Amino acid sequence: MNVTEYYKGHSKVEAYRRQGSSGGVATTILVDLLRRRKVDYVVVASLGNDNRSEMVITDRIEDVEDAAGSRYTLFRQGDILKRIRAKEGRYAVVAVGCFASAIRKLQEQDPVWKERIPYIIGLYCGNMLRPEADEAAARALGARWKDIVRIAYREGEGEGDFVVETRDRTVRHMPKARWNHLIPFFILEKCVPCRDLFNETADISLGDLVPGWNVVRVNTDVGRSLVSIPDLHLERISEAQALAVHEHALRTKELLRTSLVMRFLRSGAGRFSYRFLPKGPLMGYAERKRRRMRRVIQ
Ligand SMILES: Cc1cc2nc3c(=O)[nH]c(=O)nc-3n(C[C@H](O)[C@H](O)[C@H](O)COP(=O)(O)OP(=O)(O)OC[C@H]3O[C@@H](n4cnc5c(N)ncnc54)[C@H](O)[C@@H]3O)c2cc1C
Ligand code: SF4
Repeated sequence: MNVTEYYKGHSKVEAYRRQGSSGGVATTILVDLLRRRKVDYVVVASLGNDNRSEMVITDRIEDVEDAAGSRYTLFRQGDILKRIRAKEGRYAVVAVGCFASAIRKLQEQDPVWKERIPYIIGLYCGNMLRPEADEAAARALGARWKDIVRIAYREGEGEGDFVVETRDRTVRHMPKARWNHLIPFFILEKCVPCRDLFNETADISLGDLVPGWNVVRVNTDVGRSLVSIPDLHLERISEAQALAVHEHALRTKELLRTSLVMRFLRSGAGRFSYRFLPKGPLMGYAERKRRRMRRVIQ
């Protein structure tokens, strides 16, 4: 049955909260499902050998812990659905909105998908970038692509930094607020008109609140069971409170869709030069003064 309830919260497991993009709620739920044998496998996003993100199936808690954090560039879904279909078992899948609704469509057509995927853990999703965005950000940090051994998108305190580590163990950081300026250049075309920021077809949807905290949107009864676990700290909030947090994301989308300047940048006509990445935060978490400035610019 469908429900809509909003919470703010975080994992009570300090390591998951610290490593998670927001409050580590996704990792906590996935680990709980595996521990209690509610599922045989989970599907998470991980970094492949060539530094491209990809979806992986695993039954190991360590893999789920290693896969914590958001991956904002296009990832290979490959034959993941075929592999789920071919291998019996119950799966929990982490999905952005378009992937969650694709799974729901399959479930409407063929009941085997309902048995295979009883849990969809959704992520709020404002946009996803072409993989070249990673290369541009790495170049801006002075790292050569072929030397990179690790990429993380939200590492460290607060909102977290985009991080690349090279073979010589040098770790370079770019604040997320600066990385956000890649969005108009590299956003996937399909993301511009997409309005499913809140991932409404998943069982639960998880987004950012303030550093260390998630917004949790419960969309189904199944979703309610997912969040009713002792390892989560949750406080009920109103819909208005939850929506206010993401007002800027909705406005950014509108801007990307309607502004001629943004269209020019997306078209490739405004060729990307990382030298022009502004230093200050215009998108993302920001203090009050910055938020006013962002509005004026928008
Ligand atoms: C492309 C993208 C865009 C987003 N946009 C917004 C936004 O505009 N506003 C907002 O509030 N929140 C957004 N989020 C969600 C936010 O970044 C966090 O992922 C979410 O709050 C969950 O945090 P957590 O600490 O609970 O998750 P964690 O405990 O860090 O776990 C995250 C889980 O998601 C998996 N994962 C990471 N990337 C992907 C991916 N691309 N596809 C599928 N699974 C993935 C990881 O493997 C991990 O299992 C976005 C996430 C993504 C991936
Ligand atoms: S913005 Fe929409 S279309 Fe783009 S990845 Fe997210 S859910 Fe999919």
